[in-house]
Amino acid sequence: MNGNITLTIIKPDATGKGLAGKIIDHILQAGFRIKAMKMVYMDERTAGGFYAVHRERPFFQDLVKFMTSGPCIPMVLEKDDAVADFRKLIGATNPAQAEEGTIRKLYAESIERNAIHGSDSDENALREAHYFFSDMEIF
Ligand code: GDP
Repeated sequence: MNGNITLTIIKPDATGKGLAGKIIDHILQAGFRIKAMKMVYMDERTAGGFYAVHRERPFFQDLVKFMTSGPCIPMVLEKDDAVADFRKLIGATNPAQAEEGTIRKLYAESIERNAIHGSDSDENALREAHYFFSDMEIF
């Protein structure tokens, strides 16, 4: 069965350009409900822990530097089929390959500074939601 929550993060490139409001509106218009939301400044340990799966990749240090360069807005979103539908809404990792109308096509700068995160599985959605929020905040 497909789960009904996903975890997103509006990344520092987007918050820095004042795009958070537009992106949140885009998400709401697509039928997602915000269950939890806050603004955070991640330190290296927090950002590195979030992206631990990528720690052997050549871009890992740059990614951590980027994610600690300004405020992030993590949100737990709710909708039927949340993970798959949200991945569709944000588009491909590289905005040059993202479909027209997707959040990354509209607002991302590059494969790294790509405006927004979306969980890639139900299991990761739960794990990532708990990375930023308590049970009480999520459920
Ligand atoms: P996502 O699930 O679409 O966010 O993509 P990944 O899980 O593969 O990568 C995590 C994040 O790392 C991406 O959203 C980008 O911010 C960054 N990233 C991914 N691939 C690259 C790359 O080839 N170069 C750089 N500099 N950053 C990347």
